[in-house]
This record gives sequence, structure tokens and C-alpha cells, in this order.
Amino acid sequence: MYQRILIANRGEIAQRIMRACRELGVETVAIYSEGDRGAQYLQLADESFCVGPAKATDSYLKISNVISAAEVGNVQAIHPGYGFLAENAHFNEVCRSCKIDFIGPSPEAMGKLGDKNIARELARAAEVPVVPGSDGIIESEEEALRFAHDVGFPVLVKAVAGGGGKGMRVASNNLALKSSLQQAKAEAEAAFGNSAVYLEKFVERPRHVEVQILADQHGNAVHLWERDCSVQRRYQKLIEESPSNSITSETRQAMCEAAKRLILTAEYSNAATVEFIVDQQGNYYFIEVNARIQVEHPVTEMVTGIDLIKSQIRIAAGEPLNFVQEDVGLDGAAIECRINAEDPRRNFQPSPGTIERLVVPGGFGVRFDSHVHSGYVVPPYYDSMIGKLIVHQPTRKEAIACMQRALGELRVDGIATTVPLHQDILTHSDFVEGRIDTTFVERTFNTE
Ligand code: ADP
Repeated sequence: MYQRILIANRGEIAQRIMRACRELGVETVAIYSEGDRGAQYLQLADESFCVGPAKATDSYLKISNVISAAEVGNVQAIHPGYGFLAENAHFNEVCRSCKIDFIGPSPEAMGKLGDKNIARELARAAEVPVVPGSDGIIESEEEALRFAHDVGFPVLVKAVAGGGGKGMRVASNNLALKSSLQQAKAEAEAAFGNSAVYLEKFVERPRHVEVQILADQHGNAVHLWERDCSVQRRYQKLIEESPSNSITSETRQAMCEAAKRLILTAEYSNAATVEFIVDQQGNYYFIEVNARIQVEHPVTEMVTGIDLIKSQIRIAAGEPLNFVQEDVGLDGAAIECRINAEDPRRNFQPSPGTIERLVVPGGFGVRFDSHVHSGYVVPPYYDSMIGKLIVHQPTRKEAIACMQRALGELRVDGIATTVPLHQDILTHSDFVEGRIDTTFVERTFNTE
């Protein structure tokens, strides 16, 4: 096991990783930007280094500064969290050349799965159903139009390097497809420095269901069941739950086994999420792999009792998985609400500023993963998520009641948050009865 690791991230996930390390007896080195200087969660680290100005490209994303902190801090490994450098294969390689373990997959596996087009090819090779789509990258307008006429509109233009819903456009006719191609390419070039796109059939009103995998460096892989993340706005998840109430147990088994096959085919180790969409008829199709820990990992932890962050660290340190598939239980139901510093009444405009007063809910089955506190100033520079409220109960019905109660107790005074929207969703009959798909939020609530 490692003696000391660096956490190349900030906020709630940095704190979450520090907590796991403390329990494992591993020392931690934190990094922070000038925008996060003095943040309370940094006190949980054994040592911390400033890696640059508030702007992420000059600090959390600046590989040379992060590596310098790791060298000076004398760590054996780096945990990247999610976002920032977590899926940057170049950073992963730099860690390797500096003889620092990257707590995640190898650069090779990350490179393969980070390209959605290559990931689709691997999925086909592993006999995992993929969304009908173009054979590869779309080189010309004519090719795109031909594909659209073969599979039928609407189609989705997707960036091979895509993430966070960027570089993705729906098109319903020839004219729209031409402009969607241009827009998606330009957005992907700006966001990822890679303008390559491919096409997929647009699946109407799908559910988003994803499978959590853990794979060690000795060829063992297990799945930890699925999460349903259909409650989204603009392709961004708002609420996640496990298990999904929309799939049959046969589909669950088939999807989980398919996800495991894909990860083994990619010779991948560490934590991964294999994402699928499920159509109204119950057919499931692979969409992409996330080669990192995900924001919504706690719902899986609650229903399986397995600490995913500790598992990641043990796997990276070379330990074999100490349990097999049959040991992975599925206990009750868990739901997570992402609490963002955004104003749902003002088009989800970010609302940085001082949290005058924070009241955190507690009680049976309630978990709040957050780095914020009364008096904390939400900086304007980063992702707006300030915490995750998670509940775990014997049934989905009880989990919904528990979440309604916990949201009612949560008070974040001084800034606008997504709590009122969550309260509306949690009491809406379609959510309560599980009649949701990825368009539910935008169809049902005024979120524009
Ligand atoms: P990103 O990597 O940008 O998050 P994903 O490929 O994971 O993009 O897709 C994000 C979301 O977009 C999915 O959760 C789903 O809601 C929607 N989506 C993706 N592919 C399709 C598709 N072929 N048809 C309909 N919706 C899709």
C-alpha cells in the first residue's frame, strides 16, 4: 500500500479521497489554486501546495505544476478525482514517466476508451450492443446525409472526444444536419482540440443506465450493478439512483455482464463506468465509457457496501480484488441529488458567493458529501456543484420519502441552489412512479 498520495483535484471529491486515505492510513498531499486558498477541507490533508492562479488552466490543469507538487510532496501515487486531468491520457503518461502511479487505468486503456469511436469498435468486438451509428468518423456532409437517410432522422452528431454534453447536436432534417455538423465540430475543436465527429441514431426518450465496474491488474473484473441517471438537464445529470427501476432483472444481468466484457476486452484496470441508453422497448445500447470515478459513485457504495475510492487505491497499488462477483450484494435503494450553486429560476445561472448559513440534514440513511460550510465562499471559477445529498433506504419509495425529508432540512442561505428544483422533481408523480426518461426534466419543468 502507498504511504503518501497526491490528490489532483478540489472541493468535494478532494475531501472524499482524503477521507478514504485517512481510513486506509495513507498520508495525503493536497493541491489548491489561489481561488481555493484557505479552504477548510485542505486542513484534512497532511500537506498542501499552491499550484497557481485561480484559473484552472493555470493551476489544476497545469501538468508541470501538479507534477512538481507531487515531486516535492514525495508521493507514490496521484488520485485525479473526476474532471480536470482525470481522463487526460497525456497526464497519465507523464505520471508514468515520473514513476508516480496514476490511480486509474493505464494510459493505453484510457486512450482507447477516451475516443468514443474506438470505444464503439471495442464494444462491437466484445459483442456489446451499440447505438446504430456511422462506421467511423464522418469526413463529409454527403457521408452524413447518406447515413441519416439510411437509419432515418433524427440523428445525433457526436464528438469522438466529447464529454459533458459538449460537441453533441440533434438533427431532424437535411438542413439541420448540415448546420449541426458545423456547430458540433466547432464546439469540439474549442473544447477538446479535436473536431472529429461521428453520427448515431437519436434514440427517442431513452433512459440513461450505467454500470459500475472494478477491475484489478490481475485480470479480475466485477460489476457493481447499475445507476439510473435519466434525470438530466441539457445532458447533465441532476439525480442518480441505484438500482434502476426501469429494467427487468434479465436486462440488468445482461447489461452488467456486457459492461464487464467490454472492460476486459479493453485490458482496463481500476474503476470504470460503462454507459448505456435504454429505449422505450427495453433495448439497451452502449454509448461510452467513463475511465474514472464518477460524481454519482456514492449511490453504488450505498447499495453494495463497497467503498469505491478505497478500491481504486488498492487496485492501483497492485492488490487483487478481495471479493468475487457473487459477493457483491444489492441492498435496498439509494438516490443522490446534486446540489449546485445555480439558480433554477434564472436559467441555471451560476450563483457564486458567500454561504451565510448551512444546515446539513442527517438521520437514518442520509449522507451529505460536501466541502462547504457556513461562511464558505463559493468561488466563481469552477464547476458549480457544492455537494451531493445521498439517501439509502430499503425501498425506492422509502428512499424518495427520505430524500424529500432531507431536502426539507437542508438550508443553504446566501446563494441560490438547485434544491427547489429537486423538491419539485421528488414530489412529481412521474418521478415517484418511475415514469422518467432523459427528457423528463425539460418536458416537465420550466428549466430554460
Ligand atoms: P457526454 O460524454 O458528453 O456526457 P454521452 O455520450 O455520455 O455524452 O451522452 C450524454 C447524454 O446524451 C446521455 O445520457 C443521453 O441522455 C444523451 N444521449 C447520448 N447518446 C444518445 C442517443 N444516441 N440518443 C439519444 N440520446 C442520447
